[in-house]
Amino acid sequence: MAIDYLIVGSGLSALVFGALMAKTGKKVQILEAHEYPGGFGHTFTLAKKYSFNAQLHYVWDCGEGQTVNRVLKKLDLDQQVTFNRYDPNGFDHMRMPGYALDIPSDPQALIHRLSVLFPDHADQIRQFVLEIQKTSSSLKRLSPPINPAELLQHLSEVFSTVMYLNRTLQDVFDKFKLPQAAQTLLALQWEDFLLPPDQLSFYAWVILFTGYQNGAFYPTQHFEQVIQSLVTVIKENGGEVLLNLEVTDFVLKGNAVKGVQAIDRITHQTHEFTGTTIVCNMDPKKAAKMIGEEKFSRSIRQKLNYDYSPSNYMAYCVVKDLDLRDYGFGEWNTFHTEHQDLNEAFYQMYEQHDFSRPSFAITTPTLLTHEHRDCPEDCQIIEFLTVANYKYFRKLKDSDRKAYYQKKEEILDSILDIVEKHYVPNLREHIVLKVTGSPTTNEHFCLCPQGNSYGSSLTPRNMTLGRLNHETSLQNFYFCNASSGYPGFAPTFWTGALLYQRLSGDVILSKG
Ligand SMILES: Cc1cc2nc3c(=O)[nH]c(=O)nc-3n(C[C@H](O)[C@H](O)[C@H](O)COP(=O)(O)OP(=O)(O)OC[C@H]3O[C@@H](n4cnc5c(N)ncnc54)[C@H](O)[C@@H]3O)c2cc1C
Repeated sequence: MAIDYLIVGSGLSALVFGALMAKTGKKVQILEAHEYPGGFGHTFTLAKKYSFNAQLHYVWDCGEGQTVNRVLKKLDLDQQVTFNRYDPNGFDHMRMPGYALDIPSDPQALIHRLSVLFPDHADQIRQFVLEIQKTSSSLKRLSPPINPAELLQHLSEVFSTVMYLNRTLQDVFDKFKLPQAAQTLLALQWEDFLLPPDQLSFYAWVILFTGYQNGAFYPTQHFEQVIQSLVTVIKENGGEVLLNLEVTDFVLKGNAVKGVQAIDRITHQTHEFTGTTIVCNMDPKKAAKMIGEEKFSRSIRQKLNYDYSPSNYMAYCVVKDLDLRDYGFGEWNTFHTEHQDLNEAFYQMYEQHDFSRPSFAITTPTLLTHEHRDCPEDCQIIEFLTVANYKYFRKLKDSDRKAYYQKKEEILDSILDIVEKHYVPNLREHIVLKVTGSPTTNEHFCLCPQGNSYGSSLTPRNMTLGRLNHETSLQNFYFCNASSGYPGFAPTFWTGALLYQRLSGDVILSKG
């Protein structure tokens, strides 16, 4: 039977698009290079009993009527795939020497908490927090599908938001003259972008910050169940998700993409696959290079000229006979920095590879749901995340493997020293398993160029109106990936659903 949608890659946006199309009776076939589906959202198991999600920690837009919920409803999955909400009184716990701030959902409570910490700057703090809420509402109005009447009704707010188009978070901190420590507490979730305030798009920060204010979530049955549920919809509706198949080339006839060539990573045999429409979930720039950039229109070539997001370092640890709830962990994330200046902290780690005073995120997935599928009852999982430089790790791995492993160990040691000092005194004694991932690990398992974490870097340059979307200028060929939409769980649901809307005419998204 002819394939309607041949999809390269099984990342979240591809699975969402594929599931929606399969549900309407279209024949979907997905080719995935890895042994697991899900891209950055895949789950892997070690020692047969500990499961870790590669790169998802917490997600937004999952409440009733919001993007993820709308898509799940359309797929009849909303009763099966459910989410637990993080503590609305403090979903992100920001910690640095001398300061602690729990970020609440309620903007007024945030203003109050910050004003208590910085009484001399209460006015600036109030104005800044209100500006975030205003910008967030305007950005929703400006995102597709745009309602021109609504835009006109809120013209002055929309106009002041547009003025931030090229601004970094640091620009706006400076505009409102926030004290350094307040800036750091507000921006301490910088690992969610892997950019410091002086490089991060203000828009990107506002979207994520207010997204989590409106509800930070974790799937009740872990991320693996979300991925498997999407795969099941595809399969139950006659589609296929074929693993261990790496696409090595695209087949073109004139200006139309007709199919792909893929190598089976197990048998090493090459196969050709065809489809009426080809959807590209692999990195768009890498795909364009395979196809030949000259085949794309000038405007698409310009949009493809993005730089990649920095890469990251991950440590996945299992602790035994220890309840992390006794040490300040719970239904929230913890973000810690030793440096008060996040721009400097980032520079030291990313450019100097100096992790002696690290800034990092701590997540505890086993405390977010009572479903104990990820590890035995007497164990808990704790994960650490920070930035890492791809070129540095690539060179180290290629030239001196021992030094590469030592560097990974050195970073974890530095983090564990701080965790033992400030949070869990004997943590190391309870660790029964630890595994670390570097930028080259990302590249190896997710095939992301330069180990990039979020696709195109979330700088103002890449967040402008000229951002790539699903259009490719080639016939029968569409992009569907974080770099041609937006990175993150909910944004990739949105990206997949938007392409589904565009190709099916069936409208399921709203402004949430
Ligand atoms: C460190 C880190 C932490 C994160 N934390 C969060 C979080 O807490 N919350 C959140 O919402 N988001 C988070 N994200 C972002 C989120 O995981 C991603 O934005 C999202 O999963 C990207 O989905 P995607 O559809 O772009 O596809 P990707 O995940 O990029 O998947 C692309 C797929 O294509 C496959 N592929 C590539 N090339 C080929 C080829 N040639 N042939 C066949 N297959 C190919 C890859 O193997 C992969 O499976 C995090 C990301 C990182 C890196």
